[in-house]
Amino acid sequence: MILKSKLSKNYPMADPKKYLIGSPELLDPVFAGRLAYLAKCKGVKIKLTEGFRSSKRQQELYNMYLQYKRTGKGSIKSAARPGTSWHEFRLAVDTSTYPVRGMNNTQLARYGLCKPIKSEGWHIQPLETKGKSNRKAFAPAEVEEEEEVDTTTITAKMNGKNTKLTSILYKNENYVRLRDLAEAQSDDALEVSWNQATKTVEIKSKQEGKQWTGHQL
Ligand SMILES: [Zn+2]
Repeated sequence: MILKSKLSKNYPMADPKKYLIGSPELLDPVFAGRLAYLAKCKGVKIKLTEGFRSSKRQQELYNMYLQYKRTGKGSIKSAARPGTSWHEFRLAVDTSTYPVRGMNNTQLARYGLCKPIKSEGWHIQPLETKGKSNRKAFAPAEVEEEEEVDTTTITAKMNGKNTKLTSILYKNENYVRLRDLAEAQSDDALEVSWNQATKTVEIKSKQEGKQWTGHQL
């Protein structure tokens, strides 16, 4: 799975793996990049006390908070209702690393970051999310990893002549482009064209005068 950020790329970034301790790969990649750049500028590594939180973890924290409210015992004195924490949307981290812990909103804004909760000086979010409530609108999209495509050169015998073609290996089958096939034929024995009017690929074998058509390729 790849995380595709919706945040602006206009703030400088650094390698999260180099400057953040915790699990920066679970955060929005642009947000993590900004935090890493801040760490780089301050000459520190930022330790993430909390980064991405699963909904299960948020539920646990919320239950601990409810228990605190009931009994007055425990260390979790505030927690967002599950589904409403920016941590669950990969857009918040908690850190006690100085000097970041002591920085204010004016200082953080230059890095594209903010501390939206006054009483939580350890909680940092991307600047875009300040004062916003629609978490889904800012959360990174989770996209499937694109499959690596191997290309290779194969030799095909066409009309008795050896011809080199670039082929794509996919699930143990070799695929070549129709147009490459046509171009590889010096005697123009094969013609491939696109008919825009009928939205049809036309394949013509001049030698035999045959024509095939394939629809909507
Ligand atoms: Zn937090």
